[in-house]
Amino acid sequence: MVVAGRRKSIAFFIALGAALILVTLLLYIGWGVLGWRHGILFFLGALLALFIIAGMVLNTIFLVREIRRNAQHDAFINAVTHELKTPVASIRLYLETLQTREVDEAKRHEFYRVMLEDSQRLLGTIEQVLRTGRVGHSSRALNLAPVELSGVVEQCLARARVAYHMGEEAIQFHPGPPLEILGDAEEVSAAVSNLIDNAVKYSGPEVKVVVETAPVDGKFAVVRVSDRGAGIPKAELKQIFKRFYRVAGAQAARVKGTGLGLYIVRSVAKRHGGRAWAESEGPGRGSTFVLQLPIAKAR
Ligand code: ADP
Repeated sequence: MVVAGRRKSIAFFIALGAALILVTLLLYIGWGVLGWRHGILFFLGALLALFIIAGMVLNTIFLVREIRRNAQHDAFINAVTHELKTPVASIRLYLETLQTREVDEAKRHEFYRVMLEDSQRLLGTIEQVLRTGRVGHSSRALNLAPVELSGVVEQCLARARVAYHMGEEAIQFHPGPPLEILGDAEEVSAAVSNLIDNAVKYSGPEVKVVVETAPVDGKFAVVRVSDRGAGIPKAELKQIFKRFYRVAGAQAARVKGTGLGLYIVRSVAKRHGGRAWAESEGPGRGSTFVLQLPIAKAR
């Protein structure tokens, strides 16, 4: 409903902008034809018309951008509220059951397991929001130290395999030669974890994720995370790294998310003097995300 409303207002502002430009053009053409003998007036009029048109184009672009940004903020607030509320409601329900009913040993352990998973999910969301604030401030100092990249990736993979109950077949690792970067281990680990989480989340029921580390040009170390999942439309390969941005469609509705993960990945890459990008042949054809960081001796 909200999305349809926003689409209508975007269409309305585009149509309004185009109509105003057309009317202005018609007015000035008419006026110009009538007053063509007054050369200076005609010149000034034409200049004014150009100003008005340029102003209107800018105005329309601005309006459309603002409406889109607002829509993304709304979606973000909804997603975060949902991600905070659902696990709390679930934990509360289990606690109430434990308090009011006799529950046998096996069930009780099952309840504890689910509650732990829910609290982990809650912590994950809170951490993601806090980290967005931290990495967004370029002035915030990094905790730089030599970090062996494959080791960090290995830890992220171990965590993901436990969290998603998956084995080495579903989430594979092909480590390259040892590569040392000068980085903030916690931030690098958060960036890699976000890429692995996304690859699993957007894979659909059949998860086949491959993670690789490799050197590039003797100057950089890359972590490449590939999946055979949803894929990304070419036009959105850059957009997805913006804060709150999510690719619209059935996928976004099915897979819950806040649109912060890739913003964190890109910010971490930039803060370390590296970069991050996405490659995909299009929807349904899988994607590869690359995080490139300078190796220690090259800095
Ligand atoms: P979130 O996953 O919370 O929505 P992200 O910033 O991590 O936020 O990702 C932004 C968007 O990029 C996602 O909503 C999704 O549309 C797209 N995306 C990210 N990773 C993948 C992937 N591995 N495959 C397909 N689409 C992806």
